[in-house]
Amino acid sequence: MNLFKRKKTTEPTAGKDSALAEIALKAINDGVIMTDKTGKIEFINPAALTMTDSKSANDVIGFDYSLIIKLESKEGRELSENENPLIQAMKTGQPLESFRGSLIVGTTDKRLPIAISVLPINNLSGDRIITFRNITKELQEEGEQTEFISTASHEMRTPVATIDGYITLALNPQTATIDERARGYLTSASAASKHLGKLFQDLLDVTKLDDARIRPNLEPAEMVALVKTISNDYLEKAKEEKINFSFGSDDSVQPGGNHRMDQVVYSFVDVNFLREILDNLVGNALKYTPEGGSIYVNVRGDGDRVLINVTDTGVGISADDLSHIFQKFYRADNSDTRTIGGTGLGLYITKQRVEAMGGKVWAESAFGEGSTFYVSLPRLTSDEYEKRMIVVRQAQMAKQLEQANQPTPPNQPTPPPAPPITTPPQAPATPPQATLQNQIINNSNEGVQPQ
Ligand code: ADP
Repeated sequence: MNLFKRKKTTEPTAGKDSALAEIALKAINDGVIMTDKTGKIEFINPAALTMTDSKSANDVIGFDYSLIIKLESKEGRELSENENPLIQAMKTGQPLESFRGSLIVGTTDKRLPIAISVLPINNLSGDRIITFRNITKELQEEGEQTEFISTASHEMRTPVATIDGYITLALNPQTATIDERARGYLTSASAASKHLGKLFQDLLDVTKLDDARIRPNLEPAEMVALVKTISNDYLEKAKEEKINFSFGSDDSVQPGGNHRMDQVVYSFVDVNFLREILDNLVGNALKYTPEGGSIYVNVRGDGDRVLINVTDTGVGISADDLSHIFQKFYRADNSDTRTIGGTGLGLYITKQRVEAMGGKVWAESAFGEGSTFYVSLPRLTSDEYEKRMIVVRQAQMAKQLEQANQPTPPNQPTPPPAPPITTPPQAPATPPQATLQNQIINNSNEGVQPQ
């Protein structure tokens, strides 16, 4: 099929232009696919054929694009239809700009890291152009940079901790005698070295996900109990700072004004990531809320999502700043925040962690009145949760069995032979070891009480 025939009839120079365009499309290394608005392939260039492991244009033209382009997240996680930006862009006709993901090549197990864009064409037939390029080399170079930052941050953390340690000794009247002027200088030096230490730690945290050393370790979890348990850790700090802290799981106000409490909502999360996310969001809420203010953490089911919000009555964020706060090193600069320490990396790390679990994070705020940060994560139905729990339990039992079947080391005395089995094997008296979520569910009654 000649894509460029259509123009020939309307413009005298179009024939030459289209021939040149065709040559260019054939020569470039980026994959280009043109589809109609239903997603049927109308054109494919040689680079796209190679990247998708397709034999010839004739084999794919007229078929749906999804036959040859299947996308996973860059962490190798399967993307549901709702989270898959390619499917959404093709369906809605909204543009997609440079999404980084992994292309599943043909029917093989091969994965190709790509950046993919979708450009809807404003013509009557509603065609779409999909372009994608191999980013293996880019990722390798970024990986080297990340490796450098990570090693440098790691190496610099130790001397900074030593400097801070000596400053602390110098400031302690029991270990050093200094005059008031020196105390002033050293107090400033101590604050600066603490800031540096935090900066190196944050840089390390940023690079961990960037260079693929940390992958989310997703497990099924009951989110109300889990977030409640993590929230317990902030009670003490909130009390010290004279800020009210409360946790709830309400999704509606019942007649009489009572909140509906203790919903049960399931998700598939990395518990350590969730802790980091809440540390950052609640940590910020504590930092940017003055004495006497309040913080509310809430978890609820919202259709096929689990929605967590961290709300504070603090200094708030202006509309200008709100659109930048998730960028690396961005800090709002105003009289309320200037004196509050920070690295500008906490929300960037939060976004990274949330997205690695297939979620989204955003904020709403009114300057001077307070802020709400939302984290939305994919929700599991109770059936899906149970199924995944069965897999977790089976894996645990298999591990226990494997450990039990390990051969006895040679220097250990040989245990006496087992008595002959005369009755059928009995179920163990105690159930297999409880998972983290089970433990949390069991402890949930001791959690934070709403105020
Ligand atoms: P920082 O280390 O500066 O707190 P973050 O990335 O965590 O870095 O936050 C970026 C900026 O967003 C902060 O500097 C602050 O201006 C603003 N911010 C974040 N959370 C809040 C909040 N709860 N209330 C007001 N401002 C906030």
